[in-house]
Amino acid sequence: MPDTNNDMPSEDAAPEEELAPYLIEAARSSRSKCRTCKRKIDKDLLRIGILLEGPYGTGYLWHHLTCAARRRFEDVEAAYEDVSWDEGLEVPQLAELKKLQEAAEKKKADKKEAPWAERAKSGRSKCKHCEEPIAKDSWRIILDREVEFFGQVRTAQVNIHPACVAAELASDDCATEIDGFADLLRDNSKVLSEDDVTEILELIGELY
Ligand SMILES: [Zn+2]
Ligand SMILES: [Zn+2]
Repeated sequence: MPDTNNDMPSEDAAPEEELAPYLIEAARSSRSKCRTCKRKIDKDLLRIGILLEGPYGTGYLWHHLTCAARRRFEDVEAAYEDVSWDEGLEVPQLAELKKLQEAAEKKKADKKEAPWAERAKSGRSKCKHCEEPIAKDSWRIILDREVEFFGQVRTAQVNIHPACVAAELASDDCATEIDGFADLLRDNSKVLSEDDVTEILELIGELY
């Protein structure tokens, strides 16, 4: 994937055709992929193209209009300011898209912070450390792990057996600190009783 921050074309490499910075349209086929959710954009769904001038040419990177509203509202706002769509296309009110953004931000704010502990609601989750299933109703610990995703490192929350926590915390890609672990776990697991927390910490055992 080209690095979009570097290697911009030199100034004399003018694009053959002047493209507007944004384009909102109904997808002309089902072949484009949304750069936000990574899923395909079905034909006729509204999509927003954000112009990218890269080393391999100039073109639009597509997003579902709704995905862009949730994750990069400034672009959607700018596209609306420029009226970046053909006359006759029915687009939602900007205020409606703003609501999507607000809901997405609220969801993000409500997201729990690792580490925390909870009982597995089903037997379907697997421990990301040993790859073995986590039994229904048994404790699982949620930790942060660094994962590479399309060339970018980001943090993902992973389920870990209490008995696997010490080894996971010691691994290179673990993004949860060992220092202060027990206190953080207690703070982030407020719905649990002190007895539960004590039991969980015993299951986890020595960290060093
Ligand atoms: Zn999408
Ligand atoms: Zn495990």
